[in-house]
Amino acid sequence: MKHVLDKTNLYYVMSKKEEPVLNINPGDTVEIHTADCFSDQIISPDMDFSAVDWSNSNPATGPIYVNDIHPGDVLKVTIETIELGSRGLATVNAGAGVMRDYIEKRCVKMFDVDTEHHTTNFNGLIMPLNPMIGVIGNAPADASVPNSTPGPHGGNMDSKKCTDKSIVYLPVFQEGALFGLGDVHAKMGDGEVGISGLEIDAAVTVKLEKAENLATVHPVVIDEEGIYMFVSDESLDNGVDESVKQMIKILQPLTDLSLEEITILMSLAGEAQINQVVDPLKTARFFIPHYVLNHYSIEFS
Ligand code: CA
Ligand code: ZN
Repeated sequence: MKHVLDKTNLYYVMSKKEEPVLNINPGDTVEIHTADCFSDQIISPDMDFSAVDWSNSNPATGPIYVNDIHPGDVLKVTIETIELGSRGLATVNAGAGVMRDYIEKRCVKMFDVDTEHHTTNFNGLIMPLNPMIGVIGNAPADASVPNSTPGPHGGNMDSKKCTDKSIVYLPVFQEGALFGLGDVHAKMGDGEVGISGLEIDAAVTVKLEKAENLATVHPVVIDEEGIYMFVSDESLDNGVDESVKQMIKILQPLTDLSLEEITILMSLAGEAQINQVVDPLKTARFFIPHYVLNHYSIEFS
């Protein structure tokens, strides 16, 4: 069954206290309409930004209660399509992002997005789009987590790997998962170094169901290239280490390899990568290509 969730259902904190706005069965699809990460408040680069509520950021649309999904399960989210709006923005500000000590004032640039040619125009530079979902997650275990912050539940992981045709696996901590997403970017590079992507409204269609055989305590993404383990931490160093350990934890039992051998394999075939370095927690991702999974007949569903 297909459902539609419109933009009146925005929320800013992932929490078990957030009342679900839609109840679905596993295997249903939902077309989720999302506001940009500033709740669609910015309509012109010349407007008075003092009128903008910048704290009201990273809205998700939802949450969605999925029947028969329980704490300890993993929610399998298949991203079927991402339809972008026609206009978005990117911004930097004093005190934010990698250049936080040097940028002196807020700067906003607006972008027309050409969805037919899959491009946007930066001062005459034509760039390809790479649509992605910044915020995607379930209600966390205990405390409420603002949507600005990523974690084991998902949240603001800002990964360009959360794109159409990817499958996102999210640990479930509350009955029904209480899933939501938002903060779509039309374009962003690994790191999101300036603090924003090309922030835009969108409609995202996802299928939600229970993962059959992937037990993970951190978010995992599978795309046509391979499998990624996402770990968020105050320290990127710790995030990278933990993403490797967590990947070994899910893969080793499915192989005949010793810990020494699988560590060698991770070192040869794995890639330590970065989602973002600018959110309250940074998010590392560790990648293993499909040829490794295929060799050991590992198939997650
Ligand atoms: Ca974000
Ligand atoms: Zn964003």
